[in-house]
Amino acid sequence: MTVEELIVYGKQKVHSTHAKMLLADLLNKNAIELMTCLNEEVKPEIETKYREKLQSLQAQKPLQYVIGNVNFYGYTFKVDENVLIPRFETEELVENTLKFLDLFENAKTVIDLGCGSGAIGLTLKKKKPDLEVTLVDISPEALQIAQENATTLEAPVTFVQSDMWNQIEGTFDVIISNPPYIKEGEPIDEMVRKNEPALALYGGPDGLDFYRKIIKEIKNHIKDSYLIAFEIGESQKEAVEQLLKEALPEAHIITKKDLQNRDRMVFAYHF
Ligand code: GLN
Repeated sequence: MTVEELIVYGKQKVHSTHAKMLLADLLNKNAIELMTCLNEEVKPEIETKYREKLQSLQAQKPLQYVIGNVNFYGYTFKVDENVLIPRFETEELVENTLKFLDLFENAKTVIDLGCGSGAIGLTLKKKKPDLEVTLVDISPEALQIAQENATTLEAPVTFVQSDMWNQIEGTFDVIISNPPYIKEGEPIDEMVRKNEPALALYGGPDGLDFYRKIIKEIKNHIKDSYLIAFEIGESQKEAVEQLLKEALPEAHIITKKDLQNRDRMVFAYHF
């Protein structure tokens, strides 16, 4: 079948944008390139893959898992069911962290706790190659994906399998994390609940378990000057600020809103 015929076929099954994105990805083309080769014949093996992937989309699998990658901050990250799909809000966390790093000139070492696909830590390394970045996750499967992403992106970083600080020694200038923060009983999108790893989503009864875990030992892992950057759930500002204030009375604490005007990032710094 031709590209055009396959698009028409796909549009009967899923949203036309998704059908086009799927086919474009399988043909290693972008959306515009796809439109310039509508009459080309598609190889049978690609057609088979396309049909299979359309079925996955029809079965309500997220597009990013079906395609197998996602664009984050201009970089392509491989993703599968073992890692959270990086979100726009997390791009904003990175964006704001980079702005803080412009002010914190001596910052050298960074640790990304609960790295998942590596989107945060690897993007920081790409943007500021002089940083020494450590990526940590409890899940070996997630670390495997993060490692593949580090290789593809040519971003040399260190990996440690660890439940937050458990296997981590030493101090860091920058501690960054988008930990699991959904609280028990919080309604979440069905697509997220059914497909993304629970390990990366749920943060205990009030969603704050991982902030508590990180902050409890934070004194042992920061230097005199430091930047701490957390993504948070939109109702967690006060609680996370309070935890940080108690542990680090000298820190300046700032919560920033995302583009949808929700409190989504807390920064604590001393430099
Ligand atoms: N932002 C994600 C969601 O809303 C949750 C991510 C997390 O818990 N760190 O699905």
